[in-house]
Amino acid sequence: MSYQSINPFDGKTLKTFEELTDKQLETALATAATCYETWRHKTYAERARVIEKAGAIMAANIDEFARLETLEMGKRIDEARGEVKFSADIMAYYAKNAERFLAPVDLHPAVGEAHMESSPIGVIFGVEPWNFPYYQLARVAGPHLMAGNVLVVKHAGCVPQCAIAFEKLLIDAGAPAGLYTNLLISHAQSDRVVDDPRIRGVALTGSVAAGQSIAARAGKNLKPSSMELGGSDAFIVLEDADLEHTVKWAVWGRMYNTGQTCCAAKRFIVLESLADKFLEKFQAALLALKPGDPMDEKTTLGPLSTESALVQLLGQVDAAVAKGAKVLIGGKRIDRPGSFMQPTILTDVKPENPAFRDEFFGPVALFFRVKNEDEAIALANDSDFGLGGSVFTKDVARGKRVASRIDTGMMFINNISWADAELPFGGIKNSGYGRELGDMGIQEFVNKKLVRTVTMEAPA
Ligand code: NAP
Repeated sequence: MSYQSINPFDGKTLKTFEELTDKQLETALATAATCYETWRHKTYAERARVIEKAGAIMAANIDEFARLETLEMGKRIDEARGEVKFSADIMAYYAKNAERFLAPVDLHPAVGEAHMESSPIGVIFGVEPWNFPYYQLARVAGPHLMAGNVLVVKHAGCVPQCAIAFEKLLIDAGAPAGLYTNLLISHAQSDRVVDDPRIRGVALTGSVAAGQSIAARAGKNLKPSSMELGGSDAFIVLEDADLEHTVKWAVWGRMYNTGQTCCAAKRFIVLESLADKFLEKFQAALLALKPGDPMDEKTTLGPLSTESALVQLLGQVDAAVAKGAKVLIGGKRIDRPGSFMQPTILTDVKPENPAFRDEFFGPVALFFRVKNEDEAIALANDSDFGLGGSVFTKDVARGKRVASRIDTGMMFINNISWADAELPFGGIKNSGYGRELGDMGIQEFVNKKLVRTVTMEAPA
């Protein structure tokens, strides 16, 4: 059974779901395609009524949505509430701004006049991960539905109840049948969805392996795709950083969502002169985290999303140690029920250790000591990933200079405020391509059509 809702706090199975039959999948695709033929002609104001309402319903029911998420994937309840609120904001943002983002743009050719129009392209297939069960959906639903496209979405196997709740949200907001459809489907069925001629684009957020598989399939079908994949973000601490401020961000940047964030700080690169002091405070703060029920607001360390995620991460730590890494703190599962892992710091991870290039998707920090700024930049760039990163320094101009030299899609100076509705999000290299959120996010799956008027005779 690939769609199972299991509480990672105590391992209890909450609900299981059957996959769609091929016949049910066909009905879903046909309904989506039919819906597109009317939705594409709706005005922005008509579309906004549904999307805005969906955001408003979410905002009015934050606790209910958040509890489901905490039950299904273990996100601490306060963080879950924050995610629900942010998802509602994203829906409201696109309801308000889509028309402006997609307004015709006048061009200025030497002869005649021309403009560029933006029009929808059809049914888009979304494939989404469990680590932000609603935000990931809002990030595609807000922009792409407001652009006049229609969505069919395969969510991750461990969050089926959140997936269904989001689909119901749109129905409750007045969405016509087929506007947003949750598909409980297998990987093989997903491949067939990518191949289906009614699907005109594919948006995936997930691991590199999933991205390679789905992007290759989309490419074979000459369909546009956007890929939001993994990361191994550098957290660079220059010698003039404010230590108290920096350590608080280090803890948050690594431990938010129990470390299961694509753009979490994963590689801590600290200049030698500050390294010992930083490490002392960082490990003390990690050791002070208290595991407990993620439903309890006092808990500071939640479980990982699933038992298999925990087993995989423990295996990665063991493999890193086998190849020479040292465990400064942690490294083991916590001796209690549920899928809990000790906050962990690994040092001495050398470039020849496979862990050097791995993404650790949980509470595991890799720590590196460097001699100077140039060495920090070179180490940060020695990664197959290129999602985000951060620089801590009292000299903001210096921080900006360092940020410019890091090969990633996003850089943060003296903070790690990852995402806002109005700012583009995405990476380069193995972290994928395309951008979500902001003005750029709504441009991914629209036809940019040139319309030119010239009064002239055809050449003889
Ligand atoms: P994952 O295994 O790739 O799963 C993500 C989604 O892809 C799930 O819905 C999964 O379905 C589906 N999937 C995986 N392989 C597939 C295939 N061959 N065909 C069709 N669907 C497939 O990712 P994960 O490990 O659960 O999630 C964490 C990863 O996502 C991390 O690498 C993280 O960095 C990345 N992430 C990136 C961003 C970003 O914006 N850049 C944001 C969040 C997460 P099943 O569950 O049914 O396998």
